Amino acid sequence: MLFKLRDASFCLVVALSMMRDSEIHEIRRGAVVQHYNAPAIASTLVKGRSGRPGKHWWITEPVAEAIAVAEALSVRHERVFAPLKRPRSTETVHSSQMIDSFIETVNDDRAWTGLAEIPAGRARPHMFRHAMAMLTDQFPGSEIALGLQLKHVAARALANRSTQAYAAADTRWAELLETALDAVRFRRFKELYGSHKDGEPIGYGPGAERVKDAFDEVTATVQAKNGDSRMEEDLLRKLRITIRFGMLNNCLFDQANPVGAVCLENATVPKGHNGPLEYRCRPDRCRNSMIGVEHVAIHDAHRRTQLKPLETRRLPAPRKDLIRREIERVDAILAQVPEEKA
Ligand code: SF4
Repeated sequence: MLFKLRDASFCLVVALSMMRDSEIHEIRRGAVVQHYNAPAIASTLVKGRSGRPGKHWWITEPVAEAIAVAEALSVRHERVFAPLKRPRSTETVHSSQMIDSFIETVNDDRAWTGLAEIPAGRARPHMFRHAMAMLTDQFPGSEIALGLQLKHVAARALANRSTQAYAAADTRWAELLETALDAVRFRRFKELYGSHKDGEPIGYGPGAERVKDAFDEVTATVQAKNGDSRMEEDLLRKLRITIRFGMLNNCLFDQANPVGAVCLENATVPKGHNGPLEYRCRPDRCRNSMIGVEHVAIHDAHRRTQLKPLETRRLPAPRKDLIRREIERVDAILAQVPEEKA
């Protein structure tokens, strides 16, 4: 049973942390730390680095939990993923065996777990990293669907690859993921253009106005030159608009002109990080923010959820103040939406 738990923990870490196999085996006890206010694994960068420098990988809660489980199992070892039978052994356990045994367990227990069968075939640690890039590209819809499916795993993985040290050591994987993301973004961008051309609302707020103006220019140019859909697509690709589709808004942060990005105001930017700091996003007052049509209901529901506790008698005053501030923020977001659409 303990083996099964360890193997499951390993598979979760390898699938969701985007760390290399060798790096996972370097994880020592007490490796889960806070790094720039987010959970991270402090471990050793192995590939392409002499002297094995330390490095942080941002992770999600499930990964932190999996490491805590593995740590509890390898009581007498310094390494988190260690042999369970021989307490003082220094040898590392084999990743391939752990993955194979996990797949076997999942398939054997299908009768009571109700899980779908994992098809036969070889699964190895490096494949999970490539799978992330492919999922990014192939999920229907957009990054929003990706976000819903993978929660913020993808965002954390991207943060990992965006540190200079990591990107330099792993340009191929970074490129693969970036290409996949670009493809998803462009598909969604084209969909937005189509909706705008059909006269449908595509979003609200200062960012949305920029997008609409750019779309109108494309339409006007195509009409003036008697162009076709290919020309339209070319012009869309050439637009100087960077858009990140998010769960609560879309962000038009422009790396070449970061002025006005509220998330960067008074922020400590992690070394090597490029782009906005999404976790500090302020869609209520940032000029790069676009509230998509699909976001309105989320903010509306959030407002209603915030109002409820205010009805509670004897709610401490600081808590009330906090809730009121949050409601003010949501009100500022919803104020960007015309009344008939809210
Ligand atoms: S505050 Fe939000 S919308 Fe503005 S740049 Fe930062 S992430 Fe983008």
